[in-house]
Amino acid sequence: MDRNTCEQAIVLKTRKDGDSNRNLTLLSVDNGIYEIRAFRFRTSKTAPKAYLFQEGMFYLYNNPVKKQYSLKDVSLISSHDSIREDYEAIIVASLMSEFILCSANDDMSNIYRLLATSLDLLEDSTIEKDIVLIQFFLRMIREHGLIENFSNCPVCNKKYSRDEILHFSQTINVPCCSDCEQLPNIILQAKARKYLSYSLNMSFEDSILIKLNDTTIKRIKHYMLAWASIIMGHQFKSIGSQIN
Ligand SMILES: [Zn+2]
Repeated sequence: MDRNTCEQAIVLKTRKDGDSNRNLTLLSVDNGIYEIRAFRFRTSKTAPKAYLFQEGMFYLYNNPVKKQYSLKDVSLISSHDSIREDYEAIIVASLMSEFILCSANDDMSNIYRLLATSLDLLEDSTIEKDIVLIQFFLRMIREHGLIENFSNCPVCNKKYSRDEILHFSQTINVPCCSDCEQLPNIILQAKARKYLSYSLNMSFEDSILIKLNDTTIKRIKHYMLAWASIIMGHQFKSIGSQIN
């Protein structure tokens, strides 16, 4: 990057840096995940500021000696203020952010678009937040290359029967048939499998409109978070009691 650069990005994480500065972890469309510093963030009213989950154009200074980016200015695209004011939305957005931080790869542009769309949808009070969560994780796991379809077992290639309940293969981190089962506690009911399979072929925005009852939403949410935890290799830190 040049010394002065501008990046379209979303703030994934923020943390204190000494008494007055703040470190921000950005997800940029063009350059993936990296950390920048916001100097005098907490002590100066005029210092440039950006908050968790905000999307914008970030004007940065690159100090090549210190190998450090600092924030010069921000032009907001979406403030996502209402997410930071809604406990349920914060938890969902934090889970998304945590999974993205464990999903770094060379091209993060698809993941950026997934997150930007999800954050916008979380601000719509008419949309069930857990369905946004389910669809985000479904599409993220596809980005990991772990979903081809839900019609054949990826371990033994057997075609699933109409009402087959899927189990989970810890060897290759995918749902599988009962013959190939390795983790008996992670189970995907036939109805939930049909929903995931059907919705995966729709646009994100259209998939959100499929109606599900509360029990089904809760079950699929559990399943997607358990699947993502296995991919990450550890439990989500953002969850606490929220997995219930
Ligand atoms: Zn199998």
